[in-house]
Amino acid sequence: MKHEKKTREQLVVELDRISDQLHQLAHSDPTLCSIHTSDKIANALFKNASEGVVVTDTDSTIEKINPSFTSVTGYSSSEVIGQKISILKSNRHDKEFYRLMWSSLKNGGKWQGEIWNRRKNGEIYPEWLIIIPIKNRHGNILNYLGIFTDVTKYINKNIQIRNHAYYDSLTGLPNRMLLHDRLAFMVNHARRNSQLMALLLLDLNRFKFVNETLGYHTGDLILQIVAERLKSCLRDVDAVFRLGDDEFAIILEEIVHQQDAAKVAKKVLSVCAQPMPLKDNELFLTTSIGISIFPNDGANHESLLKNGEAAMQRAKELGTNNYQHYTPNMNEKAFEQLTLEHNLRKALEKDQFVVFYQPQVDISNGGISGIEALIRWKHPELGMISPVDFIPLAEETGLILAIGEWVLRTACFQIKEWNCHFKKEMKMSVNLSTRQFLQQDLISTIESALRDANLEPQYLELEITESLGMQNPELTIKTLEELKSMGIKIAIDDFGTGYSSLSYLKKFPINTLKIDRSFVKDIPEDSNDSAIVNAIIALAHIMKLDVIAEGVESRDQLEYLRKHDCKKIQGYYFSPPVSAQEFTALIYKSLNSPRFGEPCKNDTTPHSNPV
Ligand code: C2E
Ligand code: MG
Ligand code: MG
Repeated sequence: MKHEKKTREQLVVELDRISDQLHQLAHSDPTLCSIHTSDKIANALFKNASEGVVVTDTDSTIEKINPSFTSVTGYSSSEVIGQKISILKSNRHDKEFYRLMWSSLKNGGKWQGEIWNRRKNGEIYPEWLIIIPIKNRHGNILNYLGIFTDVTKYINKNIQIRNHAYYDSLTGLPNRMLLHDRLAFMVNHARRNSQLMALLLLDLNRFKFVNETLGYHTGDLILQIVAERLKSCLRDVDAVFRLGDDEFAIILEEIVHQQDAAKVAKKVLSVCAQPMPLKDNELFLTTSIGISIFPNDGANHESLLKNGEAAMQRAKELGTNNYQHYTPNMNEKAFEQLTLEHNLRKALEKDQFVVFYQPQVDISNGGISGIEALIRWKHPELGMISPVDFIPLAEETGLILAIGEWVLRTACFQIKEWNCHFKKEMKMSVNLSTRQFLQQDLISTIESALRDANLEPQYLELEITESLGMQNPELTIKTLEELKSMGIKIAIDDFGTGYSSLSYLKKFPINTLKIDRSFVKDIPEDSNDSAIVNAIIALAHIMKLDVIAEGVESRDQLEYLRKHDCKKIQGYYFSPPVSAQEFTALIYKSLNSPRFGEPCKNDTTPHSNPV
């Protein structure tokens, strides 16, 4: 574009010059009073000007436009001639703005200034506009001549600051405010023309962890890459928005079938799943997309947005790279989720959490060597809620930090009490979720819990999962080293289910591998699972780590593990997780029966999980 290198000031001067030329032409020759004349110069200027030119009558009805008008606004002559100029109105300006404009025009003066107008596709844009009243020799106004240039590209710093209200400064994409505006416009347009249109709401999965682990600079870079990829895979008429954080939206106009939206969603998922090229390595991200279609899923822009959001939440729950169409029951689910979140917030204040304890048994002597602390939510109406049902929500909302600290403190006090009372040296294992592990003040929180319970650090073991550790191995090593130097033990929970790199695992200063229950479940019958269990036990021995098999429910499993040199086990075979009071009884029982690890002869049925 010829103007791209010009400053905005130069542009305004140039527009002024052109408008003067047109003005003079219109006044120098009485026949030019109306631009309908065939004057060659006027026509040439009119047709070839890179500025948009529009002529209206005194009633603001459009009489003539030039080709640049069409390129800027998207309207062809047949669509606008005979229409009021207000077809371009963006609704960004108040009545006072137009009153002042008209008062200077009606007095016969020229008006010029920046104005936001709306293109045919609904997008609003800033233009520099000069309006000249064209008068006859008696001074009566016959027409108005408007000359304008789209100044989106010439926006200087001052305007950019104002533009922050509508555009996202990081990606340059229009923001949530413009989405509302555009969506409302497009819904009306689709309604008038009986067309389908779709709204896609996108959310990058686990993006906050990228920010927290790789830093905001990397996070910003990824958002910019995503914005570019989204733009590149859409048609020109479709619009992309950044709504904040890791949320984006796409409006697909004039789609023919519902499936068209799904096709675009698939394309978007695949471009976003391409590796993100970072300076030192590559990163893989997945996306969740919710789709709502006008008119099926909402009669106005608000309900389309609300339902798109519910569909997106559902896609997020499903976890992987996927999209979901809105279905009416989603709002009920979203409501349930909201109430759950509200209640979860209150649960800590209302003392509704309890910690249950499950023994870890040393097979060689049948004694309790360790205990795992497992939280439950004692809901007044719903009864006992399993952590599987609320930990993910607590994690997502950040409530896990307060809840996790409460578990840690409770467990530290409890083990101190048992060890003192029974003169034992049992260790307490506490699960740490990703957010907890990444929190800034993890070390000081643990130090304070140990101090307040007067517990020596060697009696505390923290369980982290493989995938947590692998999200940012360098940071994991650093934090684990700190914990190790404090004397705290570390276990890798659910081992075998994540994607550990053995080279990193070697560098993690850990003490224990916990073989995931899913591998233990079908031993000894399933030869693959048995082979995996053997391999994990061998790996632990080579790395000089303790190994515990989780989820042991039967004597056959126990015997298999014993035979393959797994020294510790945890599972319903010995005891499900139980309350502190029941656990005290369990310790008494283990002390009184030297072979606690060997259940009574008639007790061959596995215990059932109390939750
Ligand atoms: P996990 O850390 O792997 O805990 C072991 C889970 O296996 C527990 O489920 C336990 O009740 C169950 N389990 C133990 N033995 C058996 C068995 O023989 N058979 C079967 N079928 N299951 C057995 P639970 O208590 O429902 O906890 C589930 C998960 O919730 C835990 O898995 C842990 O990841 C998480 N969790 C529990 N408490 C906390 C907590 O305080 N903080 C955090 N961040 N996560 C927690
Ligand atoms: Mg655990
Ligand atoms: Mg586990």
